[in-house]
Amino acid sequence: MSVYTVFIDALKPSSLRHMDFLKTLSSCSIEPDLINFSNTCQASIYTGVYPNKHNHQFIWTLDPQNSPFELLDNRVADFSIRDKYTKFLVYNLLALKNLKTVPYGFLYFADKKPSYWANFSFEEVSHSGRPDHCLGGYPTVFELIHSAEMEYSVDWHVSDDLSDIEIQDTEEDFNYFYFGHVDPASHKHGQESDEAIEVMKQIDLILEQIYEQTSENDTFIVLSDHGHVHIENFINLADEFERNGENLNDYMHFVDSCYARFWPKSDVEKQRVTQVLESMEKGEIITTDLLRQFNSELNCDQDVILYYLSPPNVFDVVNPKTESMHGFDCRLPDSKGVFVTDDESLDAEEIQLQDFLPTVLNQMNISIPPHVDGENIL
Ligand SMILES: [Zn+2]
Repeated sequence: MSVYTVFIDALKPSSLRHMDFLKTLSSCSIEPDLINFSNTCQASIYTGVYPNKHNHQFIWTLDPQNSPFELLDNRVADFSIRDKYTKFLVYNLLALKNLKTVPYGFLYFADKKPSYWANFSFEEVSHSGRPDHCLGGYPTVFELIHSAEMEYSVDWHVSDDLSDIEIQDTEEDFNYFYFGHVDPASHKHGQESDEAIEVMKQIDLILEQIYEQTSENDTFIVLSDHGHVHIENFINLADEFERNGENLNDYMHFVDSCYARFWPKSDVEKQRVTQVLESMEKGEIITTDLLRQFNSELNCDQDVILYYLSPPNVFDVVNPKTESMHGFDCRLPDSKGVFVTDDESLDAEEIQLQDFLPTVLNQMNISIPPHVDGENIL
């Protein structure tokens, strides 16, 4: 028997109603990780362990030793690389030279001096081509299947035209399909928009084709990593600091769509930053207790202040045309992902991302390693 899994980036539970084939199967919601960007959630799906173990909570981390922009840590760079076009060019060139890829997030750096860039390094779960065999020291589902001397296939579709996709017949022990289209359509138009619904309907037709390949003893699973939440306000963090008589750039920090991280150098800095963040009243500082509750403690040496923005707010480092975002509180209904299967034994209202790996291994009669945090749910 084989397992057929289709991964759909950012499909939320309420969107199943737009997918006529998919909604006929058994389903439940998935609670994503507390810090629920695709990178974190996919590391959890592929390893079956919590973020405090795989350590892929953020793509950009404070790590000057491994920064692709290490060369820029000087005043000459700050003086000579100033306009946005030059910055964009240098960002791409240095990233390609050191990472062999252009990483997401130029807008996080666009308004900063190049010497600031040199503090950060980048690590992303592999989204295309060969999937990662290991993340944070834990073997992925692909590696575990390979070690059990079974075969898998991977069919990645990130931004290609859905109407051009031809699904090839595949009969490996584990057949993995990846569709990235719902996420960008949702960012651009909102997941409730006609445009995003059209994308979901097209994927639904492809899912039906894939399902037709399966035979009676096979298992068919469709899952997503997180949902999408409607946004309205774009917050400029530098303005918030200025309102409090402070300069954001006096503090080591990193801002992405709905999180701001600070690495204070003293108790005084810590107190000042905390004061400004608390005065904003647009989110909250995520305490270590909350992180621990969701098995998401940040395993780094530095003392980090982690600020979370609540919807409908995002920081203005995202494209100003963005309608919808993920990464918000994992307990919000729209933040959740979905798990759908043809196995009628599914008897759960909500599962965790970490449950996918043990469930797949169990279907394939591969023993589940003791380090795995999730549980078999079928
Ligand atoms: Zn996204």
